[in-house]
Amino acid sequence: MSKQAAEVAKRRTFAIIAHPDAGKTTITERLLLMGQAISIAGTVKSRKSDRHATSDWMAMEQQRGISITTSVMQFPYRKHMINLLDTPGHEDFSEDTYRTLTAVDSALMMIDGGKGVEPRTIALMNVCRMRDTPIISFINKMDRDIRDPIELLDEIEEVLGLKAAPITWPIGCYREFKGVYHLTEDVIYVYSSGHGHERTDAKIIKHLDSDEARAHIGDLYDDFLEELELVQGACHAFEHDEFLQGQMTPVFFGTALGNFGVDQVLDAFVDWAPAPQPRMALEREVLPSEETFSGFVFKIQANMDPRHRDRIAFMRVCSGKYEQGMKMRHARINKDIRIADALTFFSSDRERLEEAYAGDIIGLHNHGTIQIGDTFTEGEELSFTGVPHFAPELFRRVRLSDPLRAKQLRQGLQELAEEGATQVFFPQRNNDIILGAIGVLQFDVVASRLKEEYKVECIYESINVWSARWIECDDKKKLQEFKDKAHENLSIDGGGHLTYLAPTRVNLSIMEERWPDIKFLAARESH
Ligand code: GDP
Repeated sequence: MSKQAAEVAKRRTFAIIAHPDAGKTTITERLLLMGQAISIAGTVKSRKSDRHATSDWMAMEQQRGISITTSVMQFPYRKHMINLLDTPGHEDFSEDTYRTLTAVDSALMMIDGGKGVEPRTIALMNVCRMRDTPIISFINKMDRDIRDPIELLDEIEEVLGLKAAPITWPIGCYREFKGVYHLTEDVIYVYSSGHGHERTDAKIIKHLDSDEARAHIGDLYDDFLEELELVQGACHAFEHDEFLQGQMTPVFFGTALGNFGVDQVLDAFVDWAPAPQPRMALEREVLPSEETFSGFVFKIQANMDPRHRDRIAFMRVCSGKYEQGMKMRHARINKDIRIADALTFFSSDRERLEEAYAGDIIGLHNHGTIQIGDTFTEGEELSFTGVPHFAPELFRRVRLSDPLRAKQLRQGLQELAEEGATQVFFPQRNNDIILGAIGVLQFDVVASRLKEEYKVECIYESINVWSARWIECDDKKKLQEFKDKAHENLSIDGGGHLTYLAPTRVNLSIMEERWPDIKFLAARESH
């Protein structure tokens, strides 16, 4: 095997999908602990609170108990390289999550054992299903009173339409939680509380049919055997192929807080989850094994580090190898750029990157030329597909408190819009600035970040816009005619695209009818 093929085979790139509060932050810490990327669990949280002190935006995140940022973390585990992409769980940030899921090869679904499948779990699973992303499931919070595990598996099957194959089965829960039984290995992993913050290997009891197992399980033993019989009769056995096709999910039980069962999940990613997969471009399919470099940008984040005030474009490498100092072709603008300082995200601290392969995520410094969805190659004309922008559904006119800071306002809105969670529009008929978003929370985030990061105070005013549509037309004459006629409602968005801001639903239908040659697009891909 070539070095490149070996490096690709070692990689696992996945995201965690969960309803808020299911335990995503907690398990992320435990995974980092497992990869020895951090030495004590709690580090990720405390980093969060450092920033909390200096940033209203993060304070807001904390207050509302949701995680707004997507972080990228890389760590080694069992001679493999894990790329973990965190996603915001809150529905107002679904676009960001959607795009992050285009950059992974598999996903970890966290379910709160007390609550089961929740609305965000369903929405995120629907996104994963679009690409048949393989899913590994973890039922969390076994140290609490949870719902009947058989019922939970039924729910995964019925509500999410995924065949559920239990790999481990819990022995009791809450104060009676004694560990999990591995259905094929015939061993019990013994739970003991109080080890949540360190890396410990669970004690193992071999064979369920042993005195040691009987003694450990105690009064629950007979009931457990009965339950197990039911489970083995009624549940699917794990089929690797079906998992890879996104039709079956292996299910593990444990507690992220107690750091129990998390290692089994990570082992499952190493053993079963796919190595980096091919990606579709408009022109052709691109394989991870190809020698020349390619990748696409799925996320842009401004001012990640408040001390640096920079903008980072996150790129998934799709083929070839990134080396420091290499030249890349920015395909959309057809320009070669030398990349001397790409970043990797080793355990949430950024480090200068030496090399990267398919499946890795690298961070490029963006000085305004990179947009979400952009493709980079070593010269070939390629455009990766499947990274969409959606038309916003809510609109506000942005007004400044201090008119002298107009330049900073424009710059701030433009840079924040590059991240893709909001979109900024500059109407052709006047000097207004209109902000569009999919969720109302995004307006608060922007106001708070403008104040913190750009020292601009803004006020929102309501505005009569129902929806936005990107305009495309191959016929230049028709387009010009349309531009003249629709001038009042046309804007240029932050990426320079012509956009029609429809005041009402009826207005949009009339325009669509009247201008059959013009495409009014509710979603666009950037190429
Ligand atoms: P997120 O919103 O999905 O990132 O959830 P967090 O990781 O912040 O967890 C939400 C809450 O559940 C926090 O109070 C955690 O301490 C708690 N939690 C997470 N995992 C467990 C667990 O296994 N057992 C118990 N009892 N609590 C947990």
